[in-house]
Amino acid sequence: MQSINKSIEENKVKFLDELNQVKNAEDIQNINIKYFKKYTKSLYSDLKNVSETEEKKNIGKSINEFKEFIENNIEMALRKFKKENIANKYDVTIFKQNIKLGTVHPLVKLYKKMEKIFINMGFSIVQGPEIELDKYNFEKLNMPSHHPARDMQDTFYVSSPSILLRSHTSSVQIRAMQEKSPPIQIISPGTVYRVDDIDPQHTPMFYQVEGLMVGEKISFANLKAVLIKLLKEVFGSHVGVRFRPTYYPYTEPSAAIDMSCTKCNKKGCKTCSGTGWITVLGSGMVHPNVLEGVGYSSEKYTGFAFGLGLNRLALIYYDLGEIRKIYENDINLWKQL
Ligand SMILES: [Zn+2]
Repeated sequence: MQSINKSIEENKVKFLDELNQVKNAEDIQNINIKYFKKYTKSLYSDLKNVSETEEKKNIGKSINEFKEFIENNIEMALRKFKKENIANKYDVTIFKQNIKLGTVHPLVKLYKKMEKIFINMGFSIVQGPEIELDKYNFEKLNMPSHHPARDMQDTFYVSSPSILLRSHTSSVQIRAMQEKSPPIQIISPGTVYRVDDIDPQHTPMFYQVEGLMVGEKISFANLKAVLIKLLKEVFGSHVGVRFRPTYYPYTEPSAAIDMSCTKCNKKGCKTCSGTGWITVLGSGMVHPNVLEGVGYSSEKYTGFAFGLGLNRLALIYYDLGEIRKIYENDINLWKQL
C-alpha cells in the first residue's frame, strides 16, 4: 500500500511537470494517454496483488482520486490552450499608423461654447421636431395665415398647407410653453429651413439657437443682461453691443442686436459694409398674444425671446468669409479653427 501511494504521488509531480512543458494540444493528449490510460492500468494490476480488503478499498480510492486529478488538469490545460489560440489569431495590441482621425465641426464647437454659457446662466436645452405643424411654426407665433411676415420666412411644405419644415426653432418654444407653466428658461437649438438660393451669405438650411425666458417681472433689462453676457463671453469683453428697434410679429417691443465689427472695431470695413457694426441677433419681449395663445396670463407673466443664426455667427467668429465654407468639410481648415 505504501509503495503504491508513493508511486501515485511521484507520478502526480511528473505529470504536472510534463504538462507545464506542452507546446500543442497533441502533447496534452499524449500525456493524457501516458498517465490516465497506461499508468492507471498498471495501478489496477498492482491492486490485484493486494489481498487485504480494507487496504484494497483504500488503494482503489487513491487510484480514483488520481484519475480525477489527471482529468481535471488535462481539461484545464486544453481550455487554456484553446483560449490562447484564439487570442493569437488577432493582435489586439496592434496600432495602425495611418488612421486619420476627424475633428469636431466648427459649428458644433461654437454651439458647445454657447451652450455652456447658457447652462451657466440657468437655461436648459429643449429639442423639437424639424417637420412641424403650421400651428406651431406660424399661427401661435402671432402669424395667422394672412400675415405678411410669413413671406420673410417662406419655407418648404411637406403637405400644404399645414405640415412644413420649420423656419425657426420658435416652434419648440411654443411646444415647451404648452407643456410647462412659468417660470420657463430654455434654449432651443436646431436645424431650420427657408426658401433661399445658395449664395455667399445664404443657404436654404441652417442652424439656429433660440432662447426664451418667461416668468413674473421679466423685463427688457433681463434680455439685455443675458445677450450682452453671451456676446462678450463668445467674442471677448471688448466687443460693443447695441440694440436697435425692429419688427417681429411675435415680440413687442422688438430689437435687432448689433455687435461691433470684430475685424475693424467700428472703423468700417468690407465685412460690416462700412458701418462698423454687424447684426447678430433678433430679440424682443414676448408678444401678449403669444403668451395668451399658450394659456399663460399676459397680465401676470412677461418674458423675452431671442434667436440667432449659428452659421452667420460662425462666419464672424472664425472669419470664414462666406457661408458655403461651412459645408465644404475641409478637414485641414477645421483643424486650424
Ligand atoms: Zn468692419
